[in-house]
Amino acid sequence: MKERGLTVDRREFLALMGVATAAGVAGPALVSPPRAHADDAWVSTFRSWVPEIFAPLPDPPAHTEALVIGSGFGGSVAALRLAQAGIQTAVLERGSKWPNDPHREIFTGDDLPDGRGFWHRTSFTGVTQVPMSFAYFGGVLDCTSYPNIDVWRAAAVGGGSVIFTGAMPVPPRDLFDRVFLGKVDYDEMVSRYYPRVRRKLRLSPIPRDLYHSAPFAHSREWNRQVRAAGYHPEPVDSIFKWPVLRDELAGRSRASATAGRSNLGNSNGAKYDLNQNYLKEARGTGRARIYPGHNVTSIGHDGKRYVVSVHKISPAGEVLRRRTLTADRLILAAGSVGTSELLVRAKASGSLGRLNGHVGRGWGTNGDVALARGVTGIQATGQGVPCASRIQTEANGLPTVLMNWYVPGIPVDTGTLASLGLVMDPTRGRFHAGPAGQVTLHWPKHGNDRARAAAHAVNHRIAKRADSIMEYDFIGRAANASFTAHPLGGAVIGAVTDDYGRVRGYDDLLVVDGAAVPGSTATANPALTIAALAERAMDRYLGR
Ligand SMILES: Cc1cc2nc3c(=O)[nH]c(=O)nc-3n(C[C@H](O)[C@H](O)[C@H](O)COP(=O)(O)OP(=O)(O)OC[C@H]3O[C@@H](n4cnc5c(N)ncnc54)[C@H](O)[C@@H]3O)c2cc1C
Repeated sequence: MKERGLTVDRREFLALMGVATAAGVAGPALVSPPRAHADDAWVSTFRSWVPEIFAPLPDPPAHTEALVIGSGFGGSVAALRLAQAGIQTAVLERGSKWPNDPHREIFTGDDLPDGRGFWHRTSFTGVTQVPMSFAYFGGVLDCTSYPNIDVWRAAAVGGGSVIFTGAMPVPPRDLFDRVFLGKVDYDEMVSRYYPRVRRKLRLSPIPRDLYHSAPFAHSREWNRQVRAAGYHPEPVDSIFKWPVLRDELAGRSRASATAGRSNLGNSNGAKYDLNQNYLKEARGTGRARIYPGHNVTSIGHDGKRYVVSVHKISPAGEVLRRRTLTADRLILAAGSVGTSELLVRAKASGSLGRLNGHVGRGWGTNGDVALARGVTGIQATGQGVPCASRIQTEANGLPTVLMNWYVPGIPVDTGTLASLGLVMDPTRGRFHAGPAGQVTLHWPKHGNDRARAAAHAVNHRIAKRADSIMEYDFIGRAANASFTAHPLGGAVIGAVTDDYGRVRGYDDLLVVDGAAVPGSTATANPALTIAALAERAMDRYLGR
């Protein structure tokens, strides 16, 4: 095997772990420009490790009744409901269809990632502050750097469900109503759509035996500290498959969710990701097919049908074929960034000239902040991934949630207690298409400051009252809001679309993903709300 191409070898990595420990989970996520081509030796290596993603990619038909762009939360729901309604559906997904296996390493880890981890890039510095480089490839996590903000999102069949942390709480009523301004009825969401998705994804909080196991020492310490600071931790619903975590602890499966792995995928299928439910059922109808390796570059309408330009790409990023497909119905589910890009480009080029002036606007980060404080009793194990609990509070006048998080990838405890902060911050940005069709995101220079300050204030209060070690403040790394893993907005419900995701000015054109959400899911992680809104949109569209 050719040299791995990492600039950080194992020894350097361990030395850097000292830095990571001191830096905690907080710090800027830096980005370098991607290399144009994949390294052949690496591609052969990945082929030998995961031959499934190199199988010949099927070609979609030239015309389909319905095209769905993207196979994440919104796209999977749409595909199933269209297929169940008898509509022939093709799902176009740029990423690969990754398998699962209890013993093989399908996905790479955050500790020493290789190209399977990242979408068409060669380096990454995440929240642990350890800079890493790796081979250019079509891996599962896409990190795009815009001025003043880095945006993380998925690139795989199953979208975010493959790489997300699986925390799926329901937002509180008062904050939900402040975000959705009465366009979405909260009562209907909690009585019908949230329960429907919760059942399908089998959500539940971490069971007691796992909470008391070694990898969740950090969760127990987190709860102890927040209680000592006067807060009340509440359990959080999770998508993780608890029997698989028990298998990991018993040695029946390769360690994954119990060993800080998730952001770059769980090889053993430790999450009920969308491949195991919505997408599987959609395929099972015989009326929906998923096409991995299909990157949509533009959308339009020719007066009769929707017209979609698509590049068929190999897992290494090589363009294998360029095609134009048509459909009677077009469902946009490429995520907040993917859908916004396609829409602002279509408006600028005139290929969807009737789109209104709200296109590209209303984008927010969900107030994401990565936080670190010290742990007093260091354990010998790495940290388990599923989020056990959260606290809800207010800081600097902004509703603020802190969630028990984990330090990604590091196989031993670093003395860092991580939290994810979610702040309901009104700052919004917008996407803009340049003359050559390139799309950028305008996000204010100090756009992250208010969220960062609010989340930091709560974290600081806990650290102080619970006597946790405070070195992160001294080195300025206690709170990092330079990235978001929760991009939301760009085709906001009630503005670009009607109150049910139907794009104004067009028939049979829907937005069913995070682009429809007005920049925040009201201090909750977004995936449950995105999936529930997609169910609601499809019910209305299909007259169910
Ligand atoms: C590391 C990480 C952890 C997270 N943890 C949580 C969590 O614990 N809880 C939670 O609720 N949320 C979490 N999220 C956020 C969550 O993943 C997203 O909010 C959610 O996946 C968005 O759903 P979606 O349907 O809008 O889009 P996605 O799930 O992102 O799906 C969009 C799909 O479209 C594809 N696509 C994009 N552009 C194109 C194109 N041009 N052509 C073809 N295909 C395209 C993408 O490859 C992707 O598969 C996390 C995100 C990250 C990155």
